[in-house]
Amino acid sequence: MTAGASSRSPAGPEHADLAQRLADVAAVIREEAAVIDRDATFPENGMSAIRKQGLLGLLVPAEYGGLGGWLPEFVDAAVVLAGECLSTALIWAMHCQQAATIARHATPRLRQDLLPRIAGGEVYIASVTSEKGKGGHLLTAQAPLRRAGGMLEIDRDAPIVTGGQHADGFLITMRDDVSAPASAVSLVYADRAELTVSAAGSWDPLGMRGTHSVGLRINGQVAGHNLVGLPGEFREVAVATFAPVGHIGWAACWLGAARAALHRVIELLRAPAGRRQFDLRSELLRTRLARARLDLDTVAAMIAQCVRDVCAAPDLEAIPVQLRLNALKVLAAERCFAVADLLIEVTGLRHGYLRDAPLGLERVFRDLRSASLNYANDRLLLANGALALLDRGVTLAY
Ligand SMILES: Cc1cc2nc3c(=O)[nH]c(=O)nc-3n(C[C@H](O)[C@H](O)[C@H](O)COP(=O)(O)OP(=O)(O)OC[C@H]3O[C@@H](n4cnc5c(N)ncnc54)[C@H](O)[C@@H]3O)c2cc1C
Repeated sequence: MTAGASSRSPAGPEHADLAQRLADVAAVIREEAAVIDRDATFPENGMSAIRKQGLLGLLVPAEYGGLGGWLPEFVDAAVVLAGECLSTALIWAMHCQQAATIARHATPRLRQDLLPRIAGGEVYIASVTSEKGKGGHLLTAQAPLRRAGGMLEIDRDAPIVTGGQHADGFLITMRDDVSAPASAVSLVYADRAELTVSAAGSWDPLGMRGTHSVGLRINGQVAGHNLVGLPGEFREVAVATFAPVGHIGWAACWLGAARAALHRVIELLRAPAGRRQFDLRSELLRTRLARARLDLDTVAAMIAQCVRDVCAAPDLEAIPVQLRLNALKVLAAERCFAVADLLIEVTGLRHGYLRDAPLGLERVFRDLRSASLNYANDRLLLANGALALLDRGVTLAY
């Protein structure tokens, strides 16, 4: 299945080329999805396939050896991968968020060193923004950077890091200095080889089990040019790239998982055995399917609008754009989970609720339950409430 959600980036990969790479990866991650969910382990085979197919470099510009894609290709790819395994897709999408941030905000020296290695499949980057005490709040940090002889010293607790034990590098938010306020956040890149990384805690969650999002303790020293964006000014990077790419990527992953679930349900209903078991003329069944479709179309439309906003807008600080990017995350988290819930209702206990049912709805339901927590919806709603008061003209995109 291809999403076909959006027009392609002029410098990006050819549609057929990307589709082939995705098909190769999809076959591998489909194979391993149930096992990594059962065992709560990292998708080793899926990540190898992603590396081999160049997808770590989807958002790396072609001049650095990457595929040169941007948000339209990112959304298409996320929808396809998440249709097979949401955990693997989210690991990959979060890596792409880090890669795009480096491509757009890193120093020339870091770009030259790192981007070709990402494009070559050598470097998978994990994200470290959450911190004990401040929870998920993106625009504050507690652990301070220390500077010594041109080097940056990192000593950071990281309570939940997707794929952290398997990452080749980390993009980490830090308080800019011991004397800086919590709002002066700096973003730093570190190769794993420069760090001591120790696991702190276990990973046995309800869903997204294959993300293997363990707690880590991270210490080490990196060169001064590993600072991404200006010192203490992570907010600018977050507004311009980190948050938009993150929200669009997450939403596309959640949409992909829910869309594939609806696809499987429709196939079941239309198959001869399904036609015998379900009454396709039932008004209740049709109304439920219509609701599921309505939710998916709404999320897809909102993704497409946000992609247009980010591709077109010179100023992502614009309040209506901020409102939509935050709303996208909340909407996708709520509605994609609602679709998974509804599809279990449609198909019933045997097809929908049992762990070993071929439809796999039980796993999608558990996985999508995490969406509202993966950067708390409440935080974004609170921010949007304040922004809505400022947009007195109620500027909508239609
Ligand atoms: C599958 C998954 C993968 C993740 N991967 C990573 C990762 O790779 N790297 C990383 O750094 N983090 C990661 N996270 C962490 C995630 O983004 C959150 O930061 C983390 O879940 C902490 O959230 P929390 O609910 O514990 O705390 P908080 O975000 O602090 O929220 C706690 C509760 O309080 C409410 N709340 C807190 N503050 C406010 C406020 N100001 N206004 C309104 N409500 C508020 C929230 O609604 C929430 O219900 C991941 C999370 C998930 C689920």
